[in-house]
Amino acid sequence: MLRGVFGAAAALALVLSAGLASAQDFSAERLSQDIRHISSDAFMGRYPGTEGERMTLAWLQAQYEAIGLAPGGPDGQWLQPVELKHYTPVAGSASASWAGPDGTVHSLTVGTDIVLRAATNDGRADIQNAGLVFAGYGIHAPERDWDDYGDIDVTGRIVIVLPGEPTAEAVTDRFNGAYPTAYTNGWSKADEAFRRGAVGVITLIMAPATDAGWLRTAQFNGRQRTLAPGAADLEISGGINHDVALAWAAAAGLGPDAMADVAAGTFKARSLDGVTLSVAVEETIDTLVTHNLLARIPGTTHPDETIIYSAHWDHVGVGADHVSPVSTTEDNIYNGAWDNASGTIGILEMARQIAAAPRPERSIVFAHMAAEEMGLLGSYGYVANPVYPLETTVADINIDMLPLSGPTRDIAIFGKGQNTLEDDLAVLAAAEGRVVTDDRQPEQGFYTRSDHFPFVRAGVPALMTWHGVDWDEGGVEAGQAAWTAKFGADYHRVSDEWSADWDLRSAVENLTLLYRLGLQLANSAAWPTWKPTSEFGANRATSDGARQ
Ligand SMILES: [Zn+2]
Repeated sequence: MLRGVFGAAAALALVLSAGLASAQDFSAERLSQDIRHISSDAFMGRYPGTEGERMTLAWLQAQYEAIGLAPGGPDGQWLQPVELKHYTPVAGSASASWAGPDGTVHSLTVGTDIVLRAATNDGRADIQNAGLVFAGYGIHAPERDWDDYGDIDVTGRIVIVLPGEPTAEAVTDRFNGAYPTAYTNGWSKADEAFRRGAVGVITLIMAPATDAGWLRTAQFNGRQRTLAPGAADLEISGGINHDVALAWAAAAGLGPDAMADVAAGTFKARSLDGVTLSVAVEETIDTLVTHNLLARIPGTTHPDETIIYSAHWDHVGVGADHVSPVSTTEDNIYNGAWDNASGTIGILEMARQIAAAPRPERSIVFAHMAAEEMGLLGSYGYVANPVYPLETTVADINIDMLPLSGPTRDIAIFGKGQNTLEDDLAVLAAAEGRVVTDDRQPEQGFYTRSDHFPFVRAGVPALMTWHGVDWDEGGVEAGQAAWTAKFGADYHRVSDEWSADWDLRSAVENLTLLYRLGLQLANSAAWPTWKPTSEFGANRATSDGARQ
């Protein structure tokens, strides 16, 4: 009640934050040397569960102790354990058959007719005679006036969905144009089906049984999978080809027109009356424990409200299987200097600078996330077991790969148009004559590809800055060409190594803006919000009462 009410206090806060903003001094030289250290061969590509993890986290902890920060993990510890479950199908364990209204049982060949996984829960599934529902794209998006389910009840049934999201020209504006929405992802469809009580989701691949693409999909289906903590706990997931779907539809008395309007926005889920599916599959589970490292500056007046700076510390290890011996004849160490030693050190340097400022009103947490390269798993682990309540987490500011160039006019972000953090950033950027832009690569689907995204899914407004390409000297032409060349040459290659030639001026520029943004949030009573067109606002709204 005190904050934001008294004009004098608000004015004082502005003066103070203006003072703070000029107090920081990011050092390109220290960034460079620290990146060099944790991306050296000695850290062996920082793979979770290896000596590289232990070395990385021990070094980070020592840095935070030297800065004087408090441990920010559970129970006053630095580390938050994250249990990762790897699933591998037991060869020959999968079987499937379906029955029509006349009771005839038709066996299905696993691997060509159908693919199946039980990579959730206990790694076993044995489902007898489950009812089937075709749910179009499996999307329920009230903010887009789109609902594939209607009022059908899918409790205890298996839902069949199309992959992706509608791309028909008439509806692309409802689905974010060239940038994909969250609804395009398999986990989004699984979440929706699970929320409605379904026991499984099967993706319909619109290709005949003999199609090379389908057969490739079927082949890849057997690869080891790692479950994201907090993922929908369905019994099974899988896929079928179009021939199988046609047989089921015919048995249920549905004609080819049953899915005619599936991309128009008027479709509603159809029950495959009288058709049932029985499946069994078994997986082995290997468990790996890795760790997030968290440090914290407690807020002075609202310590229960938290701003998180995050970056993943891990990379992909050594060799094709991540844990190969270091080769004596060729370089097989994925040093991950850019991805993401640079972001890791960016967060550490952020902590150094913020620790030197007057303590903020809200708390600030510096979160070094594990296993991002395995599917954002450390961040999902945090969100599934948050150390600080997500309801009163103000924002996550994530760094994955610092920009490596001279100053840029643009500051690119993933997920432009999603939440008001970009507007706050735009004001700060404008003061430097800079502008916030989108990431310019809709086909990459970048928004779902780093540690901000588990926070996004949980409804916490998050910001992930990317690399500007509009160079102060040379403009977009030079900047885009240089970025494309660097990304193509080094991204997820053994050549992603530290170099004394790195130009960290744009990194310093961006870190300075993110420093100002974080402190501004930490000395404010404001709560960033999702924009009305965002698919993530509804989730946040369920906890509005916690942010009065
Ligand atoms: Zn990364």
